[in-house]
Amino acid sequence: MYDALTTRYTFACPVRGETRVCLSDFRALDRLPGAEHPAVFHVVFDCPCGEEHPGLVSDSELDWAPLGLAKERWLNLMTARFEEIAPELSDRAVRRILAGEWPWSFYCYPEDRPRPVFPSSFFLLAPGDGSLGLAVRCPACDRISVNLVSHEHVDLPFHNDREIGVVPHVFTADAERMAGEFRDELDSGRFDARRMLLE
Ligand SMILES: [Zn+2]
Ligand SMILES: [Zn+2]
Repeated sequence: MYDALTTRYTFACPVRGETRVCLSDFRALDRLPGAEHPAVFHVVFDCPCGEEHPGLVSDSELDWAPLGLAKERWLNLMTARFEEIAPELSDRAVRRILAGEWPWSFYCYPEDRPRPVFPSSFFLLAPGDGSLGLAVRCPACDRISVNLVSHEHVDLPFHNDREIGVVPHVFTADAERMAGEFRDELDSGRFDARRMLLE
């Protein structure tokens, strides 16, 4: 499903059969009720064929696979042998987290501070002028913030934008109204710049 070397997810496409997309190609993530271990998310993604399709991902594919913390194998072209990729990647990821780096972050507007986060807390994404509008449910205060970030900020673990845009708006908790507010606020183009120094 997730390939740590290409940072892409594989999904079914009705046109191409199979397609590969980045996390930043996701448009909506919705946690399905019930399943806990693993939690399962219904996602909608923007496919290279030009359409949007639905798919399913687990929380470990969202949060851990990009860090190499899931079972992955890759073909070593020099030796034509399959090798485990997870131990080496995960060692590095664990060391960086212990050193105070965080793979993903966002700016919580209600709390007025940057926060570490995992992709399973992202729930709406919209591409704009070279950047990405991102709605995040804060894992600490449970309220919603919308940030304007680079694609790399989402796709590459440990790539945190130094400064991001923050929509100065307290969003409703209602999911359907939220989607409309998300659009309106992104279209309005009102953003505050915030430095992203995690304490
Ligand atoms: Zn497609
Ligand atoms: Zn918060």
